[in-house]
Amino acid sequence: MPFAVVHIITAFAILGIVRHYFFSKKTLTPRVILIGGIAGLLPDLDIPLGWVYDFVTGTSLNLHGLFLHSVLFPTLTLLIAIVLFIAKKKKLAVIFSAITFGLILHSSLDCLFGGVDKNFLWPLNSVNSCPEFGLAGFAEELDAMFFVLWLGYLEFRKKVKDYI
Ligand SMILES: [Zn+2]
Repeated sequence: MPFAVVHIITAFAILGIVRHYFFSKKTLTPRVILIGGIAGLLPDLDIPLGWVYDFVTGTSLNLHGLFLHSVLFPTLTLLIAIVLFIAKKKKLAVIFSAITFGLILHSSLDCLFGGVDKNFLWPLNSVNSCPEFGLAGFAEELDAMFFVLWLGYLEFRKKVKDYI
């Protein structure tokens, strides 16, 4: 599985490209992109949940990939986005669309990196059928590389001062 930096920067980069080429800057605001990026981290909340479970019960249980990586959650957020769009609540519909994107991107990256089995069809039992390109062994290096590329992009766009 990729680490947090790869998840969040990939989401920022793709949503930023979509914003630049396909949406108006008023529709896909930096705040919405931030929400989409943070949503790209949410499936890994099962890691600290596992730590809490271990602390409370005193037994070790690996919750990672057990249920939060399921397609159930992006399906629900997509349905909410569609309902909001039909109800003409465009801003909220865009936010839920960004959350849906972040959740799908997270599972897609986990799938590509491999390393940990995920139950993508929870609550049904499923067999992990990801192609897994074996990048999990390079997660730290890719995290650092993505971070440096992101800083380079921000410097190129003259926006790095916004983060310092
Ligand atoms: Zn994950």
